Amino acid sequence: MTIRNEELAAQFDELADLLEAQDVEYKPIAYRRAADNIREYPENVATLATQEGTNAVERIDRVGKAIASKVVEYAETGEIDELAEKRAELPVDMAALTSVEGVGPKTVGRLYEALDVRTLDDLETAAKNEKIQTVSGFGPKTESNILDNIDFARQSQDRQLLSDAAPIGAAIVDYLTQTVAVQRCEVAGSLRRWRPTIGDVDTLVASTDPQAVVDAFTDWPDTGRVIEAGTGKASVRTNDVRVDLRVVDPSEFGAALQYFTGSKDHNVELRNRAIERDLKVNEYGVFDISETDDPDAGQRVGDRIGGATETDVYDALDLPPIPPELREGRGEIDAAAANELPDLVTLDAIRGDLHLHTDWSDGRNSIEEMVEAATNRGYEYVCITDHAKGPGMVGGVGLTDDQLETQLSELRAVGDDAEIDVFAGVEANIGPDGRLSVADAVLEQLDCVVASPHAALDGDGTDRLIAAAEHPAVDIVGHPTGRQLNQRSGLDIDVPALADAAAKAGTAVEINANPRRLDLHGSAVQAALEQGATITIDTDAHGPESYDYLRYGVHTARRGWAEPSDVLTTWPTADVRAFLDA
Ligand SMILES: [Zn+2]
Ligand SMILES: [Zn+2]
Repeated sequence: MTIRNEELAAQFDELADLLEAQDVEYKPIAYRRAADNIREYPENVATLATQEGTNAVERIDRVGKAIASKVVEYAETGEIDELAEKRAELPVDMAALTSVEGVGPKTVGRLYEALDVRTLDDLETAAKNEKIQTVSGFGPKTESNILDNIDFARQSQDRQLLSDAAPIGAAIVDYLTQTVAVQRCEVAGSLRRWRPTIGDVDTLVASTDPQAVVDAFTDWPDTGRVIEAGTGKASVRTNDVRVDLRVVDPSEFGAALQYFTGSKDHNVELRNRAIERDLKVNEYGVFDISETDDPDAGQRVGDRIGGATETDVYDALDLPPIPPELREGRGEIDAAAANELPDLVTLDAIRGDLHLHTDWSDGRNSIEEMVEAATNRGYEYVCITDHAKGPGMVGGVGLTDDQLETQLSELRAVGDDAEIDVFAGVEANIGPDGRLSVADAVLEQLDCVVASPHAALDGDGTDRLIAAAEHPAVDIVGHPTGRQLNQRSGLDIDVPALADAAAKAGTAVEINANPRRLDLHGSAVQAALEQGATITIDTDAHGPESYDYLRYGVHTARRGWAEPSDVLTTWPTADVRAFLDA
């Protein structure tokens, strides 16, 4: 089976963590940088390793001979010797433990030495029994913070990022669609609704030969392990993601797709609407039960009036089809009934990107390369927003005011030669007090200022974000909560208050499309739009390949009911310029 870049990168991250836990210097940083570059590499690195060997792998930035040979080792054997040794020396569930905010690899190492903490349960027990504060360097405050953050870490444990699940969903649908016995195939569940994190990948197939479909599914080359295979149902694991298959009769495919797409709240509301109409809706179809003595006598009771397509189901309930992203029980059924569903923004409507990094800060490519890649994508404009120095920027990343002025001339020069418009910007840091890390005199010279929180990412962030939004030079509040999915929940924000202030100040609020962020998230976008705020969808790309994050941002906007006109990056260049100038 193919080893995805994500899986390969995870081995080096784990190795880095284990070395850091043992106080090894330098190596952890080298492994993490290599992991980042492997993760984002545009080709499959394991395939490259098996077909072309270490030299080809060394072409990846920051991957030297030693790391390249480990890549080949993993691609060929599914194991890295050094990692296996380190795991034996430090037998801890590193991923689970470090998923607790405030617990880094060094902490894991020390708590293992002192208290034999190996798992999340061990950590919780130790914290509850006030054992952690007895370890040198740890106080009662640290201990109670750890305890507070364990629940969040637990909830995150079994959920995959959308960007890990979506390619697997697309691959299995592609594979099954080519299987003779398969008439239709779709993903369902939270993946079809584009939730930021996914429990497992649900696939639904219409077929009259369930056994043939189950056989094809378990023979899928990407299947790592078959969890179960039964009649018309099967589950496999691939790259740590569970994929469930369900095969239904073609006449019931629409009803099943509707049912398994969810959400639960949406389906409960829909079922209640059916009852009001003397109808029964379930995963098998839509049934008229007005003449039926006992509607609960079975699943297929009453007169069948539809179920082959999803449109049948909604149509029977006097509703237009509702896009999957809206099915969260947030007013979409009432809106559909009143014919007031939003005309949702699409990928094709996007004309540019206003939050991008280059090798002037922590990006991987030059300004020219980022502009060229955007031109090739058909964009009309981009804005380069490298990091300014300031709170949250580690390891010397971030430009000083002088460097920003130098970069400004460079951006103008590149802009003069480019086929598209190049806006000059910066990503300034919002300090805990709401102040920005760049002098006003510099901000005023730039076309676009993205202000984002990068430090002190806990507690209530409303006031500091409003202060930033109201700063006359700020155009966009970037990744407002600062959350990192499955890692930290970020700032608490009163979204309507922020959105209201932003709308009045003429500042846009960002959906950061990086799949580790997706910040703001869907319901927050919906709340922001209700206050009249303008949204921008930006990828925050640190290299050209990350422009592809856009789709995760667009689907997040759709989850927030956004129409094209709500989204700054769908506007023509002249209108964007006017918005930034105002
Ligand atoms: Zn940022
Ligand atoms: Zn950024």
